[in-house]
Amino acid sequence: MDLTFLGTASSQPSLTRNHSATALRYNGDIYLFDCGEATQHQFIRTNLKISKVRYIFITHLHGDHSFGLPGFLCTLSATISSLVTETPGKPASQGPTVTLYGPRGLRTYVRNAMLSTYSQPSYHRQRSTRFVVHELWANGEQQEQEQASPLPDASVSKDDNFSGDNILARSDGTWMLLRDDALGVTVKAAPMCHTVPCVGYSLREHDGPGRLKVEELRPLIEAQADAIRASGVAQPLRLLSEVKAGKKVTLPDGTVLEAERFVEEPKRGRHVVVLGDTSDSSQIAKLARGCTVLVHEATNACLEDDLKNGATPESVEQLTKEHGHSTPELAGHFAKDVDAQRLILTHFSNRYKGDEAPESMRVMDDIRALAVKAFGKDDVLTARDLMTVAIQRPVS
Ligand SMILES: [Zn+2]
Ligand SMILES: [Zn+2]
Repeated sequence: MDLTFLGTASSQPSLTRNHSATALRYNGDIYLFDCGEATQHQFIRTNLKISKVRYIFITHLHGDHSFGLPGFLCTLSATISSLVTETPGKPASQGPTVTLYGPRGLRTYVRNAMLSTYSQPSYHRQRSTRFVVHELWANGEQQEQEQASPLPDASVSKDDNFSGDNILARSDGTWMLLRDDALGVTVKAAPMCHTVPCVGYSLREHDGPGRLKVEELRPLIEAQADAIRASGVAQPLRLLSEVKAGKKVTLPDGTVLEAERFVEEPKRGRHVVVLGDTSDSSQIAKLARGCTVLVHEATNACLEDDLKNGATPESVEQLTKEHGHSTPELAGHFAKDVDAQRLILTHFSNRYKGDEAPESMRVMDDIRALAVKAFGKDDVLTARDLMTVAIQRPVS
């Protein structure tokens, strides 16, 4: 599992920072969080394959997080279609489904952008990718929608591409999006405090089975191999898998082999939390608790030059929050509140360059130091474009 930061800029891109997008690679699939302009170009600069993207999670519809979607979806559809094999004489199989999640309005935006530009992936219809767009509706939005006139929607086609569900928030305001035992992940979301509807995502890897203590079990079984065979078990070592599966196995001499003794604790799954733009992340605190990695925005900071110009940490924080954003200190405090293991800051103002020039590095070190102080832990990274961070399983 690793995270690649494809874009780490806030509203305007710079030569060193592209618009927001973060790719989580896990078990061969890519889960993409946000898709700012030129995200597909950023993919080309990495070893990530666009065709591996199966889920796209949009935090909110501000352009710096969503303007890359139409082009990205076209390329995604084309690359996936080219991988679907055709057998002569047989109908070609349907391409895979790519599922998008995002706040209310995402489906209309995607449909309008694709259909208005004749980008409906209809080429080789049978092989085309199917896009499903689920919207996350906050409590109260459904009633609001029923009373209001429908949002403009260019989709007059009966084609079910770009259809999806309106996922209603649970009573605590959070959303349950996906629980897939085959993929081994559960994804939930919660609202972020921003200037427009915005969400943060929590992706949890399911716990894995504990390790079988083969080095202890094998000698016990081998010592009685003949007696085990005589009892009708042709291959005594098959008993290893029975113990791992939780079965109680009694050896001919009466020794009982059971999982409690010979299987280690389950391997704890990794837990990645990627937040959208936010001036207050408290609504996702419950879903983020104890996470392995927290990706939090830190758009503005009060650095030495700002102090010289008469700003104070309080005045910068106030202004930043008024614009719906966070400072490194706000991110650090939240990481501390939820007991995150590691904090990664992103979504920086274009004043903060993301290159390796000594001055840029010094500024980012200062930003990092503010978050470290608030977090109370040194495990803080400031994201740079195309940076990849491996995510290890948490130690139990
Ligand atoms: Zn933004
Ligand atoms: Zn925004």
